[in-house]
Amino acid sequence: MNRQLLLQVCNAPGTSGFENAAQEVAAETLAGCCDEVRRDALGNVIGFRKAGARARRGKTPLRVMLAAHADEVGMMVKHINAKGLLHFIPLGGLSPAVAQSQRVIIHGREPVRGAIVPKINGEDVKPPALGDLLIDTGLPKEEIEKLVQPGDSITFENDVSLLNGKMWVGRNFDDRIGLYCLLEAMRTVGRTAADVYAVSTVQEEVGLRGARPAAFGVAPDIGIAIDGSMARGAYVDDHQNLCEPGRGTGIYVIDNLTIGHPGLVRYLCEMCEKHGIPYQRNIGGGTDASAIQQSRAGVIATTVGAPVRYMHSTVQLCHADDMDATVALLVKFMETAHEFMAKLPKR
Ligand SMILES: [Zn+2]
Repeated sequence: MNRQLLLQVCNAPGTSGFENAAQEVAAETLAGCCDEVRRDALGNVIGFRKAGARARRGKTPLRVMLAAHADEVGMMVKHINAKGLLHFIPLGGLSPAVAQSQRVIIHGREPVRGAIVPKINGEDVKPPALGDLLIDTGLPKEEIEKLVQPGDSITFENDVSLLNGKMWVGRNFDDRIGLYCLLEAMRTVGRTAADVYAVSTVQEEVGLRGARPAAFGVAPDIGIAIDGSMARGAYVDDHQNLCEPGRGTGIYVIDNLTIGHPGLVRYLCEMCEKHGIPYQRNIGGGTDASAIQQSRAGVIATTVGAPVRYMHSTVQLCHADDMDATVALLVKFMETAHEFMAKLPKR
């Protein structure tokens, strides 16, 4: 794995709608390995790699779109109260049980550290509503008002680190692990017979808002989203989450928003077997694949990605071997997508 890139990708702050720092990492990395990189009106970063000349002769190359989302679950300042404490709203699916007692960074005129202070009532263990929680920066009202205003974005402070062995921990592995795998695959893949569009999308966590226009603009024949697969961990039974960390990348058969194209799912599994890439079948939550699949007149699509434990928490876990397997699968897919398409039965 590429530690330096992983750290760069995961430590850039970027809640939904405020992905700029993460998108700069994506754009810079793609600039080193793509023929063209552009940003659309929503902020999606689109890296384009032209098909190799050999395959282009005589016909239009296949268009492959690979998409990972750059946004992470976070918050936004709503109101500064009389004591200088901040009310906030969530950006993406955030539980108060996760938010309470976490350290945060408010991206104001300059970054300001703060803590979401617990609202504990005696022995009461039931978490309060998000709207009742407050951020304490330790600064007096007059001072905080000079630095912060309603509408500023807030991220959790937890940077990425190696937990133990090959298991990493971070606040935003959904979906920065996906973005890391996409960028690393683009860096390592050779010339392909397909035109490849690597897209770092925005605003996935608030309803796939970036992938929709990105897919419309790219107009792909095949789309693959890269996102976390549902990993087994504490508090979940084996039948709830199918993927075991350390045992390979997840290939989505279905999630709440997409039924993966059966031919594509089969092809991805067969390719993993052929090339000795460890993989697991996944039943997932919902990803950018849905927006890609339903774009224009419909697109062949599914999702792949390393299993991530405790998504939408500040302590998400992911195994390095699964990141490597995801990168290997993406590279092999880019190299052979034209073969898959040529053999695709009409249906
Ligand atoms: Zn995600």
